[in-house]
Amino acid sequence: MNCIFCKIAAGEIPSAKVYEDESVLAFKDLNPAAPVHVLVIPKAHIESLDCVNGENIDLVSKVISAIPVVAKAAGLENGYRVITNIGEDGGQTVKHLHFHVLGGTKLTEKLN
Ligand code: 5GP
Ligand code: ZN
Repeated sequence: MNCIFCKIAAGEIPSAKVYEDESVLAFKDLNPAAPVHVLVIPKAHIESLDCVNGENIDLVSKVISAIPVVAKAAGLENGYRVITNIGEDGGQTVKHLHFHVLGGTKLTEKLN
């Protein structure tokens, strides 16, 4: 499958890793939108949160459980924001489920 995040998860494309376990990888976004901008992904391919089902929910739950660990490792002690874009209208450019973890500054309230 020609998926850039699958290639990052497989180590075929380098990334600045922040956290890793057997199912989950977190790495710095190449084009950060905040002082801290980390992407948290399942190593196995899931297209988006819209594809969550009974088969993959355990994996998705591992990804979500890693988010506070990632936030702590990144020093986000005063709060942060988690975003996942879904599909065309959601602005998803990489079709492999990922949670943006943003922080390191007071973020604006703008959501669109
Ligand atoms: P989306 O728009 O799909 O929600 O977010 C995709 C994110 O992946 C973007 O913020 C983009 O900067 C990031 N990104 C795209 N390609 C790469 C890459 O090769 N390496 C890293 N570290 N981030 C990437
Ligand atoms: Zn993938």
